Amino acid sequence: STYFILLIITITRLISTVGKTEQRKTPLIPPELGNLSQKLQNDPETIKMASRDYGNMVHEFPAAVFNPSSINDIVTLIKSSYNSPTPFNIAARGQGHSTSGQAMARDGVVVDMGSLRKQRNGVAISVSKDPLIGYYVDVGGEQLWIDVLHATLEHGLAPVSWTDYLYLTVGGTLSNAGISGQSFRYGPQISNVHEMDVITGKGEFVTCSLQKHLELFHAVLGGLGQFGVIARARIALEPAPKRVKWVRVLYSDFSAFTKDQERLISINGRKQENALDFLEGMLLMHQGPINNWRSSFFPLSDHPRIASLITKHTILYCLEVAKYYDHHSEKYVDKEIQVLLQGLAYIPGFYYEKNVSYVEFLNRVRSGELKLQSQGLWEVPHPWLNLFIPKSQILDFNSGVFKDIILKRNITTGPVLVYPMNRNKWDDMMSACIPEEEVFYTVGFLHSSGFDNWKAYDAQNREIMKFCRDAGIKAKQYLSNHSTQEDWKNHFGTKWRSFLERKHQFDPRMILSPGHKIFHNNH
Ligand code: FAD
Repeated sequence: STYFILLIITITRLISTVGKTEQRKTPLIPPELGNLSQKLQNDPETIKMASRDYGNMVHEFPAAVFNPSSINDIVTLIKSSYNSPTPFNIAARGQGHSTSGQAMARDGVVVDMGSLRKQRNGVAISVSKDPLIGYYVDVGGEQLWIDVLHATLEHGLAPVSWTDYLYLTVGGTLSNAGISGQSFRYGPQISNVHEMDVITGKGEFVTCSLQKHLELFHAVLGGLGQFGVIARARIALEPAPKRVKWVRVLYSDFSAFTKDQERLISINGRKQENALDFLEGMLLMHQGPINNWRSSFFPLSDHPRIASLITKHTILYCLEVAKYYDHHSEKYVDKEIQVLLQGLAYIPGFYYEKNVSYVEFLNRVRSGELKLQSQGLWEVPHPWLNLFIPKSQILDFNSGVFKDIILKRNITTGPVLVYPMNRNKWDDMMSACIPEEEVFYTVGFLHSSGFDNWKAYDAQNREIMKFCRDAGIKAKQYLSNHSTQEDWKNHFGTKWRSFLERKHQFDPRMILSPGHKIFHNNH
């Protein structure tokens, strides 16, 4: 029952606060939570589920998991904590695809957004048109991007900015930024939101946008779940293409690779016909397979010659681009790609292309996931490190990290992504943190490890961060994992002050998303 669960919260909190400097008092049982008792669960299986994430390295045990069947349930839950003399921590859990406990709430309550998704199946994604902003979709924060894609395609429309993998929730990616190969042109997903319904840390239900409650709107986008639970987001839509021309070319010279990437992202008007729709890049090394779970692309018959090129150069850099097209533009797409790639310095003869449907392209990671799942390899630890690196320092990063740390340690398994983005597609008022330069790179070490050796990867990640600090490389973590407030202050830099002020304004009792350890080191 509710009483039982709140008693557990009390006891676990008392035990965990013994000896610590800041203590929270024993919570009183808020009476208004009474009728929600059947929606709180604390059986071992449920608690175990909420104390795990995709990273599978951090395990924080909540006192209970809350299964909301409406937005109002979440309002009531947050209000009861906020109004209690002894508030308890609350974390929304989307798909739990974080890697270091960001959606966990030790001794608190985890809100399983999946329950809401089941309850609101099919009713929480709706497409409309507004004379000022054009087509948009209103979507529940608990919904998966794959479902948003399918629902909007029924209207011949789709969002323009994606993540590489679509089985993530809208609330989860908007709490970070949501980046992929479209970001250079359309900005991250947070740049494509018109409006949101948010339940703040005071339990208030607020509709916010650029026109109303602007501070909350900016705070929540990229806000790591610190200011409120996203109940609904209004996302921009455009006519969806039917097909995608998808190309990969290989480089042995990093400086030529990045020069070409930068040239290609400089053509980035949203309506510009001659711009690419997607640009990414990745490393190919002997430690990893030539094709990986993120996408199988290179024909098997070509693996030997790619492998011998890797032996010769140690690391190859793969540029990946895509151009969307429709039936009426089919005859032009080859020509357009040809023009765009003219003069690029890739290795002659190492050009690969595919023609796929738009859905196949956007959902390209799914088949790799299902394969790994069937082999029991999706559940392994994932000691990921994701960084944003200023353009002016990416060559130093290549020599110090790719060519030195990574090769010396010789443990890298999993994709390593490297691709640039344009700062002017981001809104600096939002909470998301990016480098100061106009162009910056995202570098993603998407490691999979064994249960017994993830610490070696963790040590490599720390060595990379230390190298950046020592070399003066102004790296910012994306999907950040910091464990002290000092590190978070450094992370936010000039934005820390407003981040703190916004926290005091929207979640003054420091209830929400404790797993990031920004405000919750001591309890
Ligand atoms: P969770 O991990 O459940 O939650 C993340 C954070 O958001 C937590 O702090 C949580 O409390 C908070 N939160 C969850 N729901 C809400 C809500 N409704 N309102 C407010 N806060 C909420 N990211 C990219 O940007 N680009 C990629 O291409 C990309 N690819 C990925 C591929 C894989 C295989 C995986 C595992 C992750 C990938 N990610 C990528 C990272 C992903 O965007 C983040 O981990 C994201 O948080 C996961 O969403 P989730 O629904 O699982 O969120």
